[in-house]
Amino acid sequence: MPELPEVETTRRGLEPHVVGRRILALEVHEPRLRWPVPRSLAQTLAGQRIEAAGRRAKYLLLELTHGTLLWHLGMSGNLRVLPADTPRAPHDHLDLRLDSGMTLRFNDPRRFGSVHYTTQEPRVHPLLASLAPEPFEDAFNADYLWRITRRRRVSIKQLLMNSRLVVGVGNIYASEALYRAGIRPGRAAHRLTRAEAKRLVKAVRAVLAHAIKVGGTTLRDYVGADGNPGYFRQRLNVYERAGEPCRRCGTPVRGLTQGQRSSYYCPRCQR
Ligand SMILES: [Zn+2]
Repeated sequence: MPELPEVETTRRGLEPHVVGRRILALEVHEPRLRWPVPRSLAQTLAGQRIEAAGRRAKYLLLELTHGTLLWHLGMSGNLRVLPADTPRAPHDHLDLRLDSGMTLRFNDPRRFGSVHYTTQEPRVHPLLASLAPEPFEDAFNADYLWRITRRRRVSIKQLLMNSRLVVGVGNIYASEALYRAGIRPGRAAHRLTRAEAKRLVKAVRAVLAHAIKVGGTTLRDYVGADGNPGYFRQRLNVYERAGEPCRRCGTPVRGLTQGQRSSYYCPRCQR
């Protein structure tokens, strides 16, 4: 599933190819996404210029002349810029044809992705209005993490993955950040110390920033006609490494299930 770094990588990959371009047409091959694509959308978008490509949580925000497109990749979606005459593949549901001769093509086998258009300030849109802070925003800091962990007995990993508290920290990055901070994923959130809260904020940011940086090397995936849309696979320390030696101390990494998600940690490096 695309997590925040993949969405940011997508945004950076698309930006130079779409910003400043005029939309010739939206072609809807399959309107049944997570929410149906409105019939009127094609007419609304035609002729508008893409002014900027932003992101909030896992939504790509394409700022247009008169409004904003909120694009979510869902569980399995990807966006690529391709020559407009590139033959369509299975699950290619949308084409945003641009005046450059390219098309922004949306592929989504599971169809959990979505597209919304708003003429309001996007931050007040119902999908975005109540989102928690971004990991890179100042609002996500040690004091904030300390405060939200005080009365919660849920595990620290589940708290990190709660998008009402902080957005964009999925399963992989929560596991990796806890490893980096030396904290076991199963620890009750309220047992976090102040020093650990500080370390964990830094670790979350470092892990995400690294993933975005690594993603930068695969940007060609988003512009190549035959490039695999597969997201980058970075070198992970604990995620899906149960039984393999910790890269720091050699102790076998342990796996456990928390809230129906798999967690991984080093029993020696994490307390
Ligand atoms: Zn270790």
